[in-house]
Order: sequence, then structure tokens, then C-alpha cells
Amino acid sequence: MGKLYKLMLKQSIGAAALPLVKKNAIVKKGTLLAQPDSKSLGVPLHASVSGKVQEITDSYILIEADAAQSDAFEPIPQSDSIADMVKAAGLCGMGGAGFPTYVKLGADLKGGTVIINGAECEPLLRHNIEQIIREPEKIYRGLLLAMQATHAGQGIIGIKAKNAEAVAAMRKVIKSSDHVTIHELADLYPMGEERALIREALGKLLGVDQLPSAADAVIINAETAARIAEAVDQRRPVISKNLTVVGKLKSGRDSKVFMDVPLGTPVEEVINLAGGIDGAYGEIIMGGPFTGKSCQLDDVLVKTSGGLIVTMEFLTEKRPLGLLVCACGASGLRMRELADKFHATVVGVQKCKQAQEVKGTLKCENPGNCPGQAEKILELKKAGAQAILCGNCSDCTNTVMCAAPKLKLAVHHTTDHVMRTVGHALVRRLPIEA
Ligand code: SF4
Repeated sequence: MGKLYKLMLKQSIGAAALPLVKKNAIVKKGTLLAQPDSKSLGVPLHASVSGKVQEITDSYILIEADAAQSDAFEPIPQSDSIADMVKAAGLCGMGGAGFPTYVKLGADLKGGTVIINGAECEPLLRHNIEQIIREPEKIYRGLLLAMQATHAGQGIIGIKAKNAEAVAAMRKVIKSSDHVTIHELADLYPMGEERALIREALGKLLGVDQLPSAADAVIINAETAARIAEAVDQRRPVISKNLTVVGKLKSGRDSKVFMDVPLGTPVEEVINLAGGIDGAYGEIIMGGPFTGKSCQLDDVLVKTSGGLIVTMEFLTEKRPLGLLVCACGASGLRMRELADKFHATVVGVQKCKQAQEVKGTLKCENPGNCPGQAEKILELKKAGAQAILCGNCSDCTNTVMCAAPKLKLAVHHTTDHVMRTVGHALVRRLPIEA
């Protein structure tokens, strides 16, 4: 039996795609497998490998891959419309949000701004920065195409100043006549959050219920920009994903970047590519340390998979635990899952006062600028907490550290087990600027 690839029918925000192929169909790499209903938001799905359709369910199409795989793929139809080609390619935000990109490119910015998000905000993830260093021309081409599609007057590429090699690589390909600049970002979480990026790059703070369009802007992740260029210039459908694998691996604790891993590849296979798991482990996270979710070895890569992290085993916390939830970090649900993994009893839950509920999710009023956490910590202490689990941004965690230890509360951060696994500094106090 050949290798199996499970292509999930729902890979983006919106509706799941509906299968167009039948069981036992022979497919090539790039064959259109499924399409969302014409009235629904969503993206088409293409075969990431050549082979034979083994199984079709309500949630996935399983392909048994041919032993030999060629680099060739079935191209998407040619069109004069950039947005139509991006739609046909099945592109959605590959930074994790999964919003269909053709919708963003359908906006008329009337001289506004396309911002490329190269913040790579989550610690330990490296694949966006690596791609900026290796393929700046492709990302730049994707930016120019996005500017053309949306009638933007300028482009801005947001990269953290600490990634000097990426900044330099991108500077080399920018032409002054294109009205594109680089905005260097501070090394703080969550600089990659959309409204944080707009605040930093355009000086406008949007409300929690406002979209980037309120600042005449569209934000596109760096890998997504490269995929726009692939869709238009090579007629390439989205059939693979770049990602970072890191953690408790036999090959060492440094971040390993993999480009163009076929969608549908099992998590276990990708981790084995990176050297395999080194002994007992706590959990596997799909995504980054702040916002990733735990997953299983038989889960598979989708268009929004950005990282795989194998963590050390969990420590036990016997003291009553209070949770302090951030809009830009782990959700309340994920924090409760972590508390369970610590074998801790949760005695209280508070959310940062800037975290406002919008359509069922939390949004921060001013991402990364702490409103003060002392009041929330006191509430948790009153509820009986002797330790706190917070998932806050860099600035707010700094404030938590200014208050909680004075009240004799121990502090855990949702990223601690990841950072300890790789010997990285914990998210705690911010270094004091000279
Ligand atoms: S200010 Fe509060 S809600 Fe906003 S990012 Fe920081 S901790 Fe999260």
C-alpha cells in the first residue's frame, strides 16, 4: 500500500468544500478534488499528490499516493483577474487565520495600503522569515499583484527589526517606483496581530469590531503573498505548506523549517522528517506556542498549519489555580486544557480588561499595550488562587510579574512548557531599555 494523504474538506474560514471526485478516481497532483457551494465562502481543494482516491467522507478525501511523485501539477485555469486565479488556486490566509484570500483581493482600497505580515510573531516559528530570506522576490511579486488587484497606492512589509537578514534581503528587491517600504517592528508579542500591525505601520488604532478595510488596508501573510505569485505566475494551486518543526526531537531542540510539505501529510510523518520524537513527551502543538492547539500524531497538515511543537512532559501544579485570559493568546478553553494537564484545580477565571467579546471571540482593544493587570490578579487571589496561569502578551505578562509575586502568587505562562523544552527564556519580564 502506498502512503496515505488525508485532504480535509474544510481548510479555511467558511464552508467545507464539496467533493467532485468519486472513490477509486485516479488523480494527478493539482487535480481539483472539491469545491465550496457557489453561494458559500470557502476555498477549493486540490490533490497534493498523484494517486488513487481511497475514501471520501463528510470531512476528508483520502488519497493513496503513487510511489513516484513528479514535481509537475495540473495548472489552474488562466484568467485576467488576479482575484479569480487566487480563488481558483484555493488560497486562504496561511498565517493561521485561513480567511479566503480572493475576498481580500476583491477589495477596492482606492489608493490604500497592502501590508505584508512578516512579523512571525509566535516565538520559535521560523518558516516565514526563512522564506523572506530565501525568496524575497516571490513575496515581493505577490505584494505587487495584491496591490494591483486592490488598487492600493502603497505596500508595507512588516518585519521585526531583530530579523536583520530578512530585512536586508527584502530591501534588495524593493524598487522605489513601486511605493513599497519596510516597517521594522519591535520584538514583542503580538506585533503580528492585524490591528497591532495597522497601528504600528499606519498609526491608526482600529476598534475591536473594525476590519483592516476601515484603515483602507489589506493584510496578507508572507507565505500567502508568495502563494499569490505562484497562483498567478505558475498557475499553481495550493497543495503544500511551509512550516516549522521544533521541540523534543532526536535531532536537537533548534527550529527546523520545511518548505512545500504536501497537504494531508500526517503530523507523525512530518515530525519524523525532523528527526522524530525524543522519548516521552507532554503534547504536540499545531501552531505557535501562544495560539497553537494540541493535536495528535495522526492529524494532518492543512493550509493553516504553521508549526509542530513537541513539548516536554507537563509539570504538576497542586496549588489552586487562577486563569488570566488574553484576547491574543491561548483561549479560555485551551487554558483549561492546560490546567487539566497540570492536574490543577481552577478556582477562578479573569480576562484582561482590554479583551472584548466580538461575535463569540475575544478581541483586544489595543494589542500588546498593557492596561494594568493588578486588579485582575487581586480578583484571582480573592477567589482562592495561589498560582496563576496567564496567556498574556509580552507587555501584560511583564505587568503580571510586577504584581503577582508581591501577592505571593506563583506565575505560569501558557507557553512555559514549550520554552522550557527548548531552553528558551520564559515569557516574563521585559528587558529594560537603556
Ligand atoms: S492588552 Fe490584554 S488582551 Fe491585549 S494583548 Fe495584552 S493581555 Fe492580551
